[in-house]
Amino acid sequence: MDNAVKDNLKNIFGFNQFRGNQQFIVENILKGKNTFVIMPTGAGKSLCYQLPAVSKEGTAIVISPLIALMKNQVDQLNSFGINAHFLNSTLSKAESNRVKAEVTSGLTKLLYVAPESLTKEENVQFLKKADISFVAIDEAHCISEWGHDFRPEYRKIKSIIAQIGDKLPVIALTATATPKVQQDIQRNLQMEEADLYKSSFNRTNLYYEVRPKVKNETKKEIIKYIKAHKGKSGIIYCLSRKKVTEIADLLKVNGINAAPYHAGLDGHVRVKNQDDFLNEEVDVIVATIAFGMGIDKPDVRYVIHYDVPKSLEGYYQETGRAGRDGLEGHCLMFYRYEDIVKLEKFNKDKPVNERENAKVLLQEMAAYAESSVCRRRFLLHYFGENLGKDCGYCDNCKKTKETFDGQEDIVTV
Ligand code: ADP
Ligand code: MG
Repeated sequence: MDNAVKDNLKNIFGFNQFRGNQQFIVENILKGKNTFVIMPTGAGKSLCYQLPAVSKEGTAIVISPLIALMKNQVDQLNSFGINAHFLNSTLSKAESNRVKAEVTSGLTKLLYVAPESLTKEENVQFLKKADISFVAIDEAHCISEWGHDFRPEYRKIKSIIAQIGDKLPVIALTATATPKVQQDIQRNLQMEEADLYKSSFNRTNLYYEVRPKVKNETKKEIIKYIKAHKGKSGIIYCLSRKKVTEIADLLKVNGINAAPYHAGLDGHVRVKNQDDFLNEEVDVIVATIAFGMGIDKPDVRYVIHYDVPKSLEGYYQETGRAGRDGLEGHCLMFYRYEDIVKLEKFNKDKPVNERENAKVLLQEMAAYAESSVCRRRFLLHYFGENLGKDCGYCDNCKKTKETFDGQEDIVTV
């Protein structure tokens, strides 16, 4: 690899070395090849396009679904001294004109664009004339209805890129790895021939456990659990805003330092609760799935699912927020089949094909929760990965071991 690129890694981003596949991915993009990156959350996907962007002539377009994430990344890049901007609905006309002037001047290395802004005709016309180095599509699973976060605008990206420049290299990145989603993305972006870089999804430091959910008992169990982990950071996921409020209140009444988080809270309350959690003013955040995307708190010690998630995909993402620092993380789910039935009922107003998809995803979730085989093996298999042997670090492996040890005793007697 070009020394200048390695220098950039160190001098601009402050990293001494690449992680996992990063170097090969960066090299591939620098060669101008279409690239498909599948890496778990927290593995370092951003660098895969940020480093080539600063090392190449022209401006890289980064398509990203969340305005908050976009702003975070641009702020961070600016703090590294990199000229980066975003185009989205939060900008005034004057502001977006200023951004466009920077891009035209050739100074901007990365331009983050929301899919809604990308599809606007005036922006397409503008980007057509600009000197674009490549296009990165972050959170590419938003393209697929099989992903956990489908965005219809993402489906239009391919035709827009074709208009901006039909030879533009494309890099798609996602942490969502089911073979179904992967196929969908590649087909939709017409990049079946792209070079694929897929890392393992095995999070060896996470302990997976499922316990039966029993009315009232479970709440007591959770309180006991949190008290036994006093001062540690944890997330409790619930399905509804109402449940979030109820559990957060219950925890507070029981002397636990907890705060709620869901999309129905006032903006400033939501931001405050999130910041309090990040700054350790609050130990436990009780949240809907609105919480977590792009949040990088390394020392979350447990993630509890009070309600069963809608898919294994979502479950993996949510549990993945535990143990980012590589230290212990406990993923504890409370499960009863009635919750699956309840979720199925919510789906009944959806269009037929969406309803069918949602049902399949739910049944896979139920199968996981009810399974007695190694949880990690099950989970990784779902992502198309084969774990050579049982993990020995989940509730089912622990149970098997206990039974096995018991039998062994009988044999020797
Ligand atoms: P992803 O998008 O895959 O979830 P991010 O790109 O947000 O992950 O990166 C996660 C964390 O890893 C960030 O804090 C980032 O600074 C860090 N990181 C990325 N690459 C490296 C590297 N080569 N060395 C050390 N830290 C890295
Ligand atoms: Mg990312």
